[in-house]
Amino acid sequence: MMVGSLERGAMGRLEMVLPRTERPTQAQSLRIGGVLALCIVLFYALDVLFLRGFYLPSLLVRVGWALEILLYLWAREKVGERGEAVLTALNSVCCGVCFLWLTYLLGGPSNPFIYLTPALPLVLALAQPRDARPIIYSGLTCSLGTLYLLLFVSHDPMRALAVAGLVASMSFCGAYGAAQFRKTQQALNAMRWEQAHREAQEKLALAELQRAQTEKLAMLGRLAANVMHEINSPLSFVHANVEFLRGALRERLSGQDPEELDSVLKDTFEGLQRIESIVSDLKGFSQMQAEEPSECALVDVVSDAARLAAVRLKHVAQLSVEVPEDLRVFATSGRLAQVVLNLLVNAGDALEQARVREGRVWVKGMRVRGRVILRVEDNGPGFSPGVLPHIFDAFFTTKDRDKGTGLGLAISREMAERFGGTLRAENRPEGGARMILELPLPQ
Ligand code: ADP
Repeated sequence: MMVGSLERGAMGRLEMVLPRTERPTQAQSLRIGGVLALCIVLFYALDVLFLRGFYLPSLLVRVGWALEILLYLWAREKVGERGEAVLTALNSVCCGVCFLWLTYLLGGPSNPFIYLTPALPLVLALAQPRDARPIIYSGLTCSLGTLYLLLFVSHDPMRALAVAGLVASMSFCGAYGAAQFRKTQQALNAMRWEQAHREAQEKLALAELQRAQTEKLAMLGRLAANVMHEINSPLSFVHANVEFLRGALRERLSGQDPEELDSVLKDTFEGLQRIESIVSDLKGFSQMQAEEPSECALVDVVSDAARLAAVRLKHVAQLSVEVPEDLRVFATSGRLAQVVLNLLVNAGDALEQARVREGRVWVKGMRVRGRVILRVEDNGPGFSPGVLPHIFDAFFTTKDRDKGTGLGLAISREMAERFGGTLRAENRPEGGARMILELPLPQ
């Protein structure tokens, strides 16, 4: 349920714009009025039944009444608010007069139409519950009209008072009902507005949050690129210098025990290597923002990754690849190959660490319900329950410090999501790990 619409205001914020009015359009009014006018004319059949014959004056009154209603509905759109109030009052009075005139022509107080007079203000209350004035005007006209008919035409003061009282009380009921209807509508509108306003606020808050997160990510990307650049250049000369110092000190201290110094330098070396591998992982991630994804064949991407992983898997596992040639994805092929390579290397590491003798790695691509699925499975140890929930956390690793950075899967999942896909992990029922990369088909 939505009342009004959301628009951008001068400050760029979303604002709630409520409809100015709920009244029917001119076309709708004319349609309803047309039906009413038609009914008034067609009910001439009742006159014929009452009078047992055709009677021109009643037909003329009916036609006049019908035209008056149509004229009122047409003219009401042409005048301002004040003019409309005057026209509405005139229409209410005209309706009462026409009805009573018709009653008079059809036999006056002896015609059962006289007992329908109290219903006229009620009909108006139903037709226009938003405004009590027409009901009051029509009630007054009908009360006075019946009073006149019963007093001066049939000379029956008691009946005149009774019917006029009935018309007055029905008018009061109609006006009261209309007032209640207005109040209920106002409360309902306020409630709808409140709800729509709350929804708009929630949308705005969500949009703000998303914008802030996007900005944060972009800033992090830029920051990471700067940090990598800053670290990388000193890192290379520190690396070379340590290497040089190691050799020089060895020569100088050849007479003494160099073992302690050697171990310090070895640790320093390892630290440098670790920094280098973290920087290289992050480098691929930050560069990705500059590259444009395009449509590419999944089999080519997997072949590139398999070629690079061959060195790692050679003595550890046998690799089987099964990817249909026509399977295409929309991604940055180099980055996607990096994701697949990462999954293959992880499988190789797991098989080696667990000393699996006949290691196997399977890569299988398929199309499932409009998505591309790439599964990378191995017959290694799989994920232990304590490890599985954390494998996508940045810097989580179970490998030795010199082997793993714990960034591979975190970055791979981020890349998959950038291509509009997902990356999941599970254990195979028959043992081993299964990584599932799901990507959208190119549009
Ligand atoms: P890293 O390889 O540097 O440790 P990753 O994010 O690539 O970082 O992997 C995180 C962890 O997930 C690994 O340390 C390992 O414990 C686990 N893992 C990943 N792939 C497999 C696999 N095929 N079999 C078992 N464990 C795996």
